[in-house]
Amino acid sequence: MKKEHIEHVRHTLAHLLAASTTTLFPGTKLTLGPAVDNGFYYDMDFTHATGTQQPGKLSEDELPKIEKEMRKILKTWKGFSHKEVTRAEAEAFFAGNEYKLELIKEIAQREKEGGEKISLYTVGGFTDLCRGGHVEDASNIDADGFKLSHIAGAYWRGNENNPMLTRVYGLAFESKAELEAYEVQQEEAKKRDHRKLGKELAIFDFDNDVGPGLPLWLPSGGAIIEELENLAKETEFAYEYERVRTPHLAKDTMYKTSGHLPYYEDSMFPPMEYEGGKYYLKAMNCPHHHKIFASGQKSYKDLPLRLAEYGTCYRHEKSGELFGLMRVRSMQMNDAHIYCTEEQFFDEFKKVIDMYLYYFNIFGIDKYQMRLSKHSKENLGKKYINEPELWEKTESMVRECLVAAKVPFVEAENEGAFYGPKIDVQIWSAIGREFTLATNQVDFAVPGRFGLTYTDKDGSQKTPLCIHRAPLSTHERFIGFLIEHYAGNFPLWLAPEQVHVVPVKESNFDKAKEVYATLRKLQIRAKIDLSGDGFGKKVRAAKNMKVPYTIIIGDKDMEAGKVTLENRDKGNLGQMTAEDVVAKLVEEIKTRI
Ligand SMILES: [Zn+2]
Ligand SMILES: [Zn+2]
Repeated sequence: MKKEHIEHVRHTLAHLLAASTTTLFPGTKLTLGPAVDNGFYYDMDFTHATGTQQPGKLSEDELPKIEKEMRKILKTWKGFSHKEVTRAEAEAFFAGNEYKLELIKEIAQREKEGGEKISLYTVGGFTDLCRGGHVEDASNIDADGFKLSHIAGAYWRGNENNPMLTRVYGLAFESKAELEAYEVQQEEAKKRDHRKLGKELAIFDFDNDVGPGLPLWLPSGGAIIEELENLAKETEFAYEYERVRTPHLAKDTMYKTSGHLPYYEDSMFPPMEYEGGKYYLKAMNCPHHHKIFASGQKSYKDLPLRLAEYGTCYRHEKSGELFGLMRVRSMQMNDAHIYCTEEQFFDEFKKVIDMYLYYFNIFGIDKYQMRLSKHSKENLGKKYINEPELWEKTESMVRECLVAAKVPFVEAENEGAFYGPKIDVQIWSAIGREFTLATNQVDFAVPGRFGLTYTDKDGSQKTPLCIHRAPLSTHERFIGFLIEHYAGNFPLWLAPEQVHVVPVKESNFDKAKEVYATLRKLQIRAKIDLSGDGFGKKVRAAKNMKVPYTIIIGDKDMEAGKVTLENRDKGNLGQMTAEDVVAKLVEEIKTRI
């Protein structure tokens, strides 16, 4: 209800923006203005507008003026009135506005096919072409809950062959407090931006010669990846997964069996011609894992079979859509496929959910939600594989698992994958930004396409179910999230550099080297600063790189037979013996706190 209401507020404000702009700058041509996630926008053509500072152009410093006008006009607005009109009437009303005329033509076409009607909405003397979705009474909108944020260029209908329009963006929330909270979060997100921190902390980089969207993990990124993989391997081992390895490419014949070709071809890299065949870089690990299942006869005793691999996948993404680590062309996925019987499905799925919760606890992810995407009866045999009973059964088992695990979840009708229900996982970072982590899928079609079978107790051949799961997502997406979540202040176990050893003077070098060597022997990622830099500079360098612990060794420490320990977040922890420091660090790393 609340979500729908704020959408209506935002949509109404788009009308208000249009009304105010055309009042101030007559001749402005209106085009389209929808509600968006954080507010609204309206695309307008100012070529023939009068009253702007520069002829034919709106500049950003004119936004306060429009905003003021919006607040003034809002006071006069109440409810919208609505009228269906003929194409001729609509065309007469919007004469001279080629954009609206184009929209009217399209609506008229849909109307002919039995679709929507051409309708106009009017409020406070301002009329626009619209299909509805406004607040009942505009005078209830909080006048301090919105503001105009910025302008940008936008091609008419997103097509670069069309004229360039001016898009005016507005932020809008239920109240001023919510708007301010959003702005604070955006500021914080800018500081925590994984692209900015990723560079400052030397975690990853891109290089034109390697190619756009193909991240290079620098040593610090490599260290984080090692730790994540160790966590995954350790956890999956405990859950009785088995690790496999598969090549990064395969022949087209396999992808035809899997259905990737032709249905997923747009998301794959173009093929390589080789030895008379066609090879594709793998876009998903599943088909390779199915082939591993198919290697050798399987019996019911082999199930559940859980095959895990941090598999590298390659996907075609348009260059304009690449975004830091969040949208890339190569990615390593925390992948696994669980092959099981229908009887085993509930337990197996429940264990997957438990694994998520175990990880969320380690990473301090307090807010999360799962979305169960289901089939729809009408689309069975069309959009969904025609197995009505299996759909019902697996959906209700998934629901039971979510309830049993006390996971907050929502259900979405008619959103499932072709071959089974799926579960999308949403998580929120420490500053409250939402990330889509991963999708889990139940699959009762593809094992059949691959002819995967096992011999059941009665000797009959049966097809297993398959669960696709990736709780730690891809390294790219998950580390992008973690950088923001921790603001680069990784916990000790995950920090690229865990300890910085700083001798104050040359006379302390030997003792420092001894401590450093002990740490390295224990696999602790320590560095030692034996440069001629001053002690303050050395400590600051470690702080800048957000190193969790600094061990300082000066003459006074040596006299006391101790070292001084500093913590990134807690400051100076005082003098301790080197043995005690080492024991403390080892314990903290082991418990991943
Ligand atoms: Zn409207
Ligand atoms: Zn899969």
